[in-house]
Amino acid sequence: MPNTLVLNATYEPLGVVSERRALILVLNNRAISVEDSETVLHYAGGQVTLPAVIRLVKFVRIPYRHSVPLSRRAIFARDGGRCVYCSAPATSIDHVIPRSRGGGHNWENVVSACHKCNHLKADKFLKEIGWRLRSLPREPVGAAWRILGTGRPDSKWIAYLSPYGVDPYLPNSASA
Ligand SMILES: [Zn+2]
Repeated sequence: MPNTLVLNATYEPLGVVSERRALILVLNNRAISVEDSETVLHYAGGQVTLPAVIRLVKFVRIPYRHSVPLSRRAIFARDGGRCVYCSAPATSIDHVIPRSRGGGHNWENVVSACHKCNHLKADKFLKEIGWRLRSLPREPVGAAWRILGTGRPDSKWIAYLSPYGVDPYLPNSASA
């Protein structure tokens, strides 16, 4: 299902809506289309290209910072698409404290890893094999990260998400 990225009047990413909803916002003059999608809607009187990115005409205040959903795509993006142990291209998700030994499935315990490291580490603690993390895994902050976890990765969105710290690395094999 195609989606449209919604930006605040300040260009800050807010969220994702359906293309149909986005078109209604544009037709009601509540938003401006800033990037067209590939979808053309035909109707009796003509045709209209649905927007890929819209910007709200009026600034809206964001009431509260919601948590960022944990997805494979977002974990890869946070870790730059690299294995946190050896910096090879990441192909899998590792639980730092193994799930079999009480580790949680949360932002503080999941990292991008290559297949080799993931296999070598298996169900061991880092200290048992003398490995270290380059940095402590944390939950990323901001709407741009939420969007990465919810919408399809549209290349037209990247220019609007990357200023908010979302790494443009979008591996083809990643699925949420
Ligand atoms: Zn590795």
